[in-house]
Amino acid sequence: MNGWAHGRHGLVERERKAIMLDGTVRIQAECLKDFVAQVFGRLGVPWADAQITAEVLVAADLRGIESHGVQRLGRYVGRLKKGLIQPVAEVRLVRDRTATLLLDGGNGLGQVVGSRAMELCVEKAKEAGAAFVVVRNSNHYGIAGYYAMLALRHDMVGLSFTNARPLVVPTYGREPLIGTNPISIAVPAGRERPFVLDMATSVVPSGKIEMAARKGERIPLGWAVDVEGRPTQDPGAVLSGGSLLPLGGSAEFAGYKGYGLSVMVDILCGVLSGAAFGRGVEAPVDGCEGPSRVGHFFAALQVEAFRPLEEFTRDMDRMIWALRNSGKAQGETRIFIHGEKEFEAEEARRRLGIPLHPSVYASLREIGEEVGVGLEAGGG
Ligand code: NDP
Repeated sequence: MNGWAHGRHGLVERERKAIMLDGTVRIQAECLKDFVAQVFGRLGVPWADAQITAEVLVAADLRGIESHGVQRLGRYVGRLKKGLIQPVAEVRLVRDRTATLLLDGGNGLGQVVGSRAMELCVEKAKEAGAAFVVVRNSNHYGIAGYYAMLALRHDMVGLSFTNARPLVVPTYGREPLIGTNPISIAVPAGRERPFVLDMATSVVPSGKIEMAARKGERIPLGWAVDVEGRPTQDPGAVLSGGSLLPLGGSAEFAGYKGYGLSVMVDILCGVLSGAAFGRGVEAPVDGCEGPSRVGHFFAALQVEAFRPLEEFTRDMDRMIWALRNSGKAQGETRIFIHGEKEFEAEEARRRLGIPLHPSVYASLREIGEEVGVGLEAGGG
């Protein structure tokens, strides 16, 4: 199907030229970032905050995590327009100790609140050696890895978790009570690229089920259950009342470990901070849509507080080298380190532009048109 049939915009010659052989439209990262920032600016978000939010969204697309990139712009815009997110994030210190902070995110954009929280965490860790920041009253913050990686600039290990609206069943359950609650850790190395683990604690994010449904494909057994909690391969059964399974899948594949990890994230982000948790995240208030009340958890560990930096990064390099150069399974040619594929995607996309599906491009133009901001393919 020609993706250009989507939206109300016709295909102009310039865009036709920008369509690549793979059917995507390429846009330079800086151009995309500026567009997204201007959209947020038109919705009353202060310019510096609009730029931070755009930076986090485009970082996801640069790293090949399209599910959490600019294709989500419409959801943030919709919530801002409905007054469910405050355009001006008034982040407030609730409790402040030597190595810990509790912040209230003022129901601001999660990207703004998350970036500020991690910056404060790093500043505290410079003094204390390590620091922990928990946040309540925030919103969806995009990719967890962005915030963990902020610590790398300071030769620190960074951790970032967030809770999310409930889509995942506990092992043996049939009611979605936990989110896809992601975990990220970023660790500096020496000559090697940093180790960056950034993962949902469910087998797959919900977007993969939606994609399978759109393509009319079945999903592997172990990804999800139907409304009765029975394993299913039918994406339709998942979307109509079913749920995702925690990381690992069913109990036979140790899904209870993923279940435990996602509850851990909900405890640190939701219960410890006083944010919403479980069913309460993004739950309707009196039957109406209300604020998300998402919680986050951040940590920063100064390497030098434990070991000389050179010794640590040298050993990180040795560890990564050993993993990469170990024996390959039959038929395989490469062992990856977490974050490696994303760094490679970023290098390529900075050169060639970010590939957007034509329907995503059309929806961005539509959002832009509504607020009076233009977007052109190719990035010129
Ligand atoms: P993936 O399953 O794609 O990847 C998980 C991790 O495994 C990544 O660090 C990835 O790095 C690494 N990885 C993948 N394949 C290999 C391999 N063969 N060898 C070594 N490492 C590998 O991610 P998810 O689908 O679980 O999550 C996607 C994003 O969604 C994340 O950024 C997460 O933060 C975000 N998210 C956000 C939520 C929110 O509410 N804000 C909720 C849930 C998820 P690499 O790709 O570089 O290999």
